[in-house]
Amino acid sequence: MLPTLFITYRQVPGLSPGLNRVVDKRVVVYCAGLTDETKEEDVPGAVLGIRKAITTELHLPAFPRAVVYLGKKGGEDMKSMVRELLPREGTRILACVCGFQEKQVFAMGYGFQITPCECDGGGPTMARLINEAVTQFRT
Ligand SMILES: [Zn+2]
Repeated sequence: MLPTLFITYRQVPGLSPGLNRVVDKRVVVYCAGLTDETKEEDVPGAVLGIRKAITTELHLPAFPRAVVYLGKKGGEDMKSMVRELLPREGTRILACVCGFQEKQVFAMGYGFQITPCECDGGGPTMARLINEAVTQFRT
């Protein structure tokens, strides 16, 4: 398995907001920590935080795979971040079912893979994929 960067503007169960080096240089998770209560206008700031962290604290080319949560509040800021910074071939978008078709058009247009997940942050799916990646690198 290739080193994977997981990104969400929401929370991931068991992780703290910010950059989590779950397996150093192999499985890195950035969660901005937004919650259900967060307003849509708080998302751009969170996305800026993501951009800053992954471009200054990580060497992005070292992560050929990425998994990104794109929820209802994701919007254009998340999409441009994904488009500009993440690898075309190795990126999987976890999209909640709200406006799924439109997200699918976006993903397919740029060659990203897309997988449906739960609303409200896709926490369970995110946590499961992170655990799978960790298991691969620890065995
Ligand atoms: Zn949703």
